[in-house]
Formats: sequence, structure tokens, C-alpha cells
Amino acid sequence: MRAAKARSPLRVLQVASEGFPFIKTGGLADVVGALPGALAPHGIEVTTMLPGYPAVMAALGRVQASENLIDLFGAPARLVRAEAAGRDILALDAPHFFARAGSPYLAPGGSDWPDNALRFAALGRAAAHAAMRMGFDAVHAHDWQAGLAPAYLRFAGASVPALFTIHNLAFQGQFNADLFGMLGLPTEAFRTAGLEYFGMVGYLKSGVWFADRITTVSPGYAAEIRTPQWGMGLDGLLRGRGSQVSGILNGLDTEEWNPATDPHLVARYSAADPKPRAANKVEVQARMGLTQDAAAPLFVFIGRLSWQKGIDLVLEALPAILGNGGQLAILGSGDAELEGRVHGATASQPGRVGSHIGFDEGLARLCYAGADAILMPSRFEPCGLGQLCALRYGAPPIVARVGGLADTVIDANEMALAAGTGTGFNFAPVSQEMLGAAIERAIAAYRDGESWARLQANAMASDVSWTRSSRQYAALFRGMIGG
Ligand code: ADP
Repeated sequence: MRAAKARSPLRVLQVASEGFPFIKTGGLADVVGALPGALAPHGIEVTTMLPGYPAVMAALGRVQASENLIDLFGAPARLVRAEAAGRDILALDAPHFFARAGSPYLAPGGSDWPDNALRFAALGRAAAHAAMRMGFDAVHAHDWQAGLAPAYLRFAGASVPALFTIHNLAFQGQFNADLFGMLGLPTEAFRTAGLEYFGMVGYLKSGVWFADRITTVSPGYAAEIRTPQWGMGLDGLLRGRGSQVSGILNGLDTEEWNPATDPHLVARYSAADPKPRAANKVEVQARMGLTQDAAAPLFVFIGRLSWQKGIDLVLEALPAILGNGGQLAILGSGDAELEGRVHGATASQPGRVGSHIGFDEGLARLCYAGADAILMPSRFEPCGLGQLCALRYGAPPIVARVGGLADTVIDANEMALAAGTGTGFNFAPVSQEMLGAAIERAIAAYRDGESWARLQANAMASDVSWTRSSRQYAALFRGMIGG
């Protein structure tokens, strides 16, 4: 027998505006944090380039290499390579852009930093520079903040191929045309056949146009964004790129997200022994100001308070929860108006509705471990990480049948339950009535202890890992690099 020929490792530079465990505002960070570990077994060495926010710079270990960039849009900057939290990190140390604490995108008053266009142009430009200078085989650019990297590569004549991943088409990074002159790109880049988008500079458009391959984070969303309804103005372009656009489902880092070891829980548990979960429910009720009641089905919403996530539908469907003896806890922040409505519901239903406005990783994990069910009535959802966390932690998710939610949650209708396959509840169309009906179905199953135990076991047995998807990414990279 011939020994299998060892494949030489490929070196991929991924570039993004956030990455777990350094800085996180949503699912993008989870994915960026997990990909290096997921791709390593496939012979792909991933280096992660992040803006040098204070949290990133503080996490860097011994510096392995650094390179000065003499002038990055008006001031000197440095690329600093070091290991941090077990990952190979390339930090863009550009204090004039990134030495700002707090949100990576928002100034203290809650509005975008006025120089976001240049901050993330700097990220794309430095990524292209690093890819060429440091011998990477491919670049993996995530979302609009990294969308200029493929353009800079193209116009530098680089032979390094680029993959662009869309995590959410709703955020496109569009800026006034007068920005273009500052970007250092040739005039020909500013065309419809380029990064021009209805007279503006489009960063996500740039990624979609100039990258060699485009992925989004679920097959369902890859189909949806080719339609006028969900293409957000880019469906024509996405259709035009044909088979170069595909969907690869996000996974979870199942070591990081493990109820048997998670230090944020008050009681750890596993699929084989889920009983200790009950103590986490008690703790969630206490921290969310809910009445201590082990028998009340506890529904939890965790996420951005935005139209996309359908938190308004959750509040409108409250009678379906409260009228059936249930409780609701909400963890999130976002639109001021929606935050106000969450406060209002909490104040008017003391002990039965609880909320925490803010971003709290530890509380989120406790909630996945203590909730009876997680609510995700998103109007659209590229993939969704929340339902994967919920499955892993045994809180069957109740989800709108859209995008990645439809791809990952199997509705526990009678047939599915009888066949032992249901993992949560799906509903469509996305409305308050249909959400309410799904909640009522869930409560009925909850009251039938045996059905619920089976559902919870199915949820926890779901494969939410990166196993399959990492193979797909690896094949994609090898195909791109091979030609
Ligand atoms: P998004 O569209 O915001 O990226 P996802 O479902 O893909 O939504 O990912 C959200 C991630 O952020 C999940 O890991 C979720 O647990 C986490 N998350 C969302 N809101 C909060 C919050 N307020 N506090 C802590 N974690 C949160």
C-alpha cells in the first residue's frame, strides 16, 4: 500500500472586524474565533487579522514579527504578529483608528464612529499588504468591514486569491463618493463593474465583485439573497456570479460551547445527565427578576434588539407565554425604541417578564443553560448562532423558518417526534400569530414531560460542530488556490 502523500499546509489570512475571545458583538466573532481550530485538522493554517483595539493589543503574547506601515491614511501604523488565546493573530496597530475602548463600531453616544469608512479601508488595505508580503496562499475577508481587501489585492496585481464571506447582507458599508479619492485605488475601481453602488462606494459590493469566491453562512440564505426580496439590491450581482456563490453553514466551537465544562453555569450537565440544568433555570430566574417557579416554562430571547431579530413579535406574542403560565427573559441591546418596549413589558409584568439590557457573554451562556426554550423569530437570518448554542445547551429553539434557522432546526411536529428527529419548533410566515402558535405547541410538549425530554435529547444530539462545514471550507480553499 502506498502511503498517502502528505499535503502541504496552506496558509490563509482571515481578516475581520471582530473575533472571539478578544472582541465580540455577534455571531461573526464566534465564527472568526472558531475557524482556525476548525481548519487546522485539514492542513489549513489560519492567521487572524484584527484591528488593534485595546482588547486585542492587550491579549497579544510575545511578538513574533512586526512591520511598520509608514502612512496608513494619515498616520503611521504597525502590523504585529503574535500568539493570543491559542490563535495566530496579526493585529493592525493603528492607534489613530483603533485605540478606542468599547464597541468596535460605535462612539460612546451610540452612533457610528465618523471615520468608520477610513478605519475599515485601513483594515482592507493592510490585509492586502500583509497577504502579499507575508506569503499567504489566500485571503478570507469577512463582511463589509473587510470588503475592500479583495479590491486592494486585485489592483496591486497580487496572485493571492480571495474568499469573501457575507455574514449579513443588511450591513453593506456604503459611503459617499467623495471618499473614493482617499482610498488609493485606481479610478477604474469606481465603476458599476467594481465597487461603485448607486453612486456610492460600497464595501460589501467590493467584496462581492472582486473576490474570487463568495460564501454566505448557510445554504438557505445563499438561495434567499439571490432573490429581489432578500438580495437587498445585490441579488442581480449575486445571481450573476453563479456557482462562485455558495452557502456553508456556520458551526460552533463545541469545546468552547460545552455545558459540561462551561464556567458560566452554576451547574454543569450533559446530554447523558441533563438533570443539573434545573439549577441554571433557578439562577436565570433570580438574575432576571423572575418568580422562582420550576414548573413555569421559561422562554428566553438573546440577541440584538432590532427589526431583523423580531423582538417586537416576541413582545406581541406575550399572551401566548403568560396566558399559559410561562415566563419570558430578554437579554440584548439595540434600537432605543425596542429597548423602551422591553423595559415597558418588564415593568408591567413583574416576576413574569425579566430583562437585561446590554451585552453579557456569561449571562447569555447561563440563559442557554437555564432556558426551557430559546425564541428566534428573525425576519431574516443568514445563519444564526443563537439556535446552535440553544441546541447544544438543551434549550429547544423556536425559530422562524428562514435562512440558516430553517437549515438547522428540525420542527418537532408529531411525525418528527415519533421518528425521534425533532429538535425545536419552526413557524412560517413570520408573524406574531404564527410565533404565538409555535409557543403554544412548545408549551403543550413541555407539559408532556416525556415528549419534552425526547426533544431536549434530540436537540443536544444535533451536530452543531464545524466538522462538516470545515471540510467544505477546506475544499473551497484548495480549489481556489489550485487555480
Ligand atoms: P448576529 O446577527 O447578531 O450575529 P447570531 O445569532 O449569528 O446573531 O450571533 C449572536 C451571537 O452573539 C451568539 O453567540 C449570541 O449568544 C451572542 N449574543 C447576542 N446578543 C447577546 C447579548 N446581549 N449578550 C451576550 N451575548 C449575546
